[in-house]
Amino acid sequence: MADIIHLLPDHVANQIAAGEVVQRPSSVVKELLENSIDAESTEIKLLIKNAGKTLIQVIDNGKGMSVTDARLSFERHATSKIKAAEDLFALHTKGFRGEALSSIAAIAHVELKTKQEYTELGTAITIEGSTITDQNSVAVPKGTSIAVKNLFFNIPARRNFLKSDAVELRHIIDEFHRVVLAHPKINFSMYHNGNNLFDLRSENFRQRIVHTFGKKTNEKLVPVDEDTELLKISGFVGKPEYAKKSRGEQFFFVNQRFIKSPYLNHAIQAAFEGLLQTDKFPSYFLNLSVDPKSIDINIHPTKTEVKFDDEPTIYALLRAAVKHSLGQFSIAPILDFQRDASMDTPYHQHNEQVSSPKVEVDPNFNPFSKSNTKVSSSTAPAWEALYTGLNLDTTENQNDFSEVQFESDELQSSIFDEDEGKKVQNTFQLQNKYIISTIKSGMVVIDQNRAHERILYENFLKQITVKDTVCQQLMFPLELEFSTQELGVLQTIKEQLEQAGFVFDALGNKKAVISAIPVALKENDVLKVFVQLIDDVQNEVPDFNFSSSDLVAKTFAKSLAIKNGKKLNITEQEFIVNSLFACKEPAISLNNKAIFTTIETSEIESKFN
Ligand code: ADP
Ligand code: MG
Repeated sequence: MADIIHLLPDHVANQIAAGEVVQRPSSVVKELLENSIDAESTEIKLLIKNAGKTLIQVIDNGKGMSVTDARLSFERHATSKIKAAEDLFALHTKGFRGEALSSIAAIAHVELKTKQEYTELGTAITIEGSTITDQNSVAVPKGTSIAVKNLFFNIPARRNFLKSDAVELRHIIDEFHRVVLAHPKINFSMYHNGNNLFDLRSENFRQRIVHTFGKKTNEKLVPVDEDTELLKISGFVGKPEYAKKSRGEQFFFVNQRFIKSPYLNHAIQAAFEGLLQTDKFPSYFLNLSVDPKSIDINIHPTKTEVKFDDEPTIYALLRAAVKHSLGQFSIAPILDFQRDASMDTPYHQHNEQVSSPKVEVDPNFNPFSKSNTKVSSSTAPAWEALYTGLNLDTTENQNDFSEVQFESDELQSSIFDEDEGKKVQNTFQLQNKYIISTIKSGMVVIDQNRAHERILYENFLKQITVKDTVCQQLMFPLELEFSTQELGVLQTIKEQLEQAGFVFDALGNKKAVISAIPVALKENDVLKVFVQLIDDVQNEVPDFNFSSSDLVAKTFAKSLAIKNGKKLNITEQEFIVNSLFACKEPAISLNNKAIFTTIETSEIESKFN
């Protein structure tokens, strides 16, 4: 049979990538502004016409591009910012994928003008739907101007999908706010249809907030400052009496990058507990600085989500810091005897050494643990089924799964004592991110985070739909506080949650009382998972049963999966490899990306020729 696979032409691949990067005019604004910041500009001007539908132009005084770089910048995966995968863990720039300009050029008319400091003439390039139509030398000042016209000119469906000018402009201004707040030292201005909407000069963070949101903001701000080894928090929260009916002014910046985090948002909401009227939202403008190595910003194409190594600790620190500030500024919190003391970080600890986050897998995370109360009627735990049908040429003792241990010392003894000489190490971890394992035809390289998400997802989905629930009874019922609206969301998925292994003693009256949770979950993670779930449900609005089961399973899997950057011992590596290949869909991640790739022995051999 003739071969049927062929490579997509670049312009088609770029259009597909554009779908991820560019949802609407504001996405272009974000990418262009970020590029200007990465180019070390001190002055950035944004010009918009018709809410970006006609024109989005960004002019900066940054370092500019050479003639060759100007052309190259529109190629896919063309970036000056990283050279190797390791660089991803020490990122200091906004961009790194090299996808923005190529994506934008695939779906718009783009005019680039750029000049570096010590060249006499700059370069002008016009590009339409990925094709360069014109290139010249031009006399321009140092810096770069990129004009994006007629967005989605070649994708009518996308263009028709755009909302009214008022809505699109709102999105652009939101994006602009996020960027200017993250960079108060940079001068920014913005014009819409020739009207000057913002003119911001280099200033401190408080001044930037005030100049962005108006003079009256100043009196509403309460400073927050906290410095621990793990995390530095600085910025402001709005006084409770100014809390809003909508979630307008809520900003987290992690290492100067705006992020969305329902979980951390909940920490702030919790700090305001007792101070807010029902269903009002506090304003906050908070900068979090963490070691870039302890976060993973690579999980979302538009990079507004971040995964931290140790989220519960960050939650606790944040909540304590905000509470402390509100207290100090004599916004006396109402005494609350019901609050969960474990969430507070005692203040006297703050000057003590805080150890950096550990990258070990939690030893308690053992789905095979015998101490768990099993509420299921079926005889085999769902996890065991994941192992059947494996034949990666690995170990002997694969059948006694209840004996799998997650502690590395126990692992050592089982390898070197009993099985000495028999068991060979078949897996290896690369950069705490990939698991490499041998297979008959060569080797397989697995993305550990995507693989674990897939494993957990299939397991949870099975539990929820097959109703083969395994749960653990809690020593004391867990009480979590939620707003009326949040509880409403939880009620709509209560059935799925129960099938997943939760037992609710109460769900209403501002709180959820939980007496049992799924085996795979730790008590500490429950709040985080629920908050994420509420957010996911609100954003996806599932309207029939199957999809909400799917959503619950997905959220669980994503929140609980081991992250990239986590060191795994051999047992854990083997667990991932074996469980992955027992999955129904081992190849495709929950975000439709590849989970693993194989490298054939012949490919390796050819390199030695
Ligand atoms: P990324 O930002 O991920 O590297 P982009 O597609 O956004 O990818 O940009 C590609 C490259 O073009 C950048 O790495 C940078 O070298 C160059 N570039 C883009 N915008 C500018 C700018 N305003 N000033 C200088 N160089 C730029
Ligand atoms: Mg970029």
